[in-house]
Amino acid sequence: MKRKILLIEDNEQNQYLVTFLLEKHGYEVIPAIDGPMGIELAGRVLPDLILLDIQLPSMDGYAVAHELRSNPALENTPIIAVTSYAMTGDREKTIAAGCNGYIEKPINPDTFVSEFEHFIEGSQKEPPQ
Ligand code: MN
Repeated sequence: MKRKILLIEDNEQNQYLVTFLLEKHGYEVIPAIDGPMGIELAGRVLPDLILLDIQLPSMDGYAVAHELRSNPALENTPIIAVTSYAMTGDREKTIAAGCNGYIEKPINPDTFVSEFEHFIEGSQKEPPQ
């Protein structure tokens, strides 16, 4: 069975690129264009992993991660922040909000899937902390 990846991303180009790369590698991608839609879908489809943009309209990714973690059904679901905030402290901020890791934007099509699979494989071998 294909693994389901919830992609919460408001930028059309990034949505397109990530969906293209993941589908090419056999994943099913479920798109959400903002936080509330992502939270609703996450609770309903229980994805294998959530990719979360931090810069989102109305509700930022930190708030979204916090809300996702408050759902017991999503307690162990890996949440990976995808963000161009590359400043010191932002990584810590995403982890504090409940994310398991961080992939930097701009997305590099040559390395994105291997970075991504590091998190999904790791999540199968050991429970997230
Ligand atoms: Mn964005």
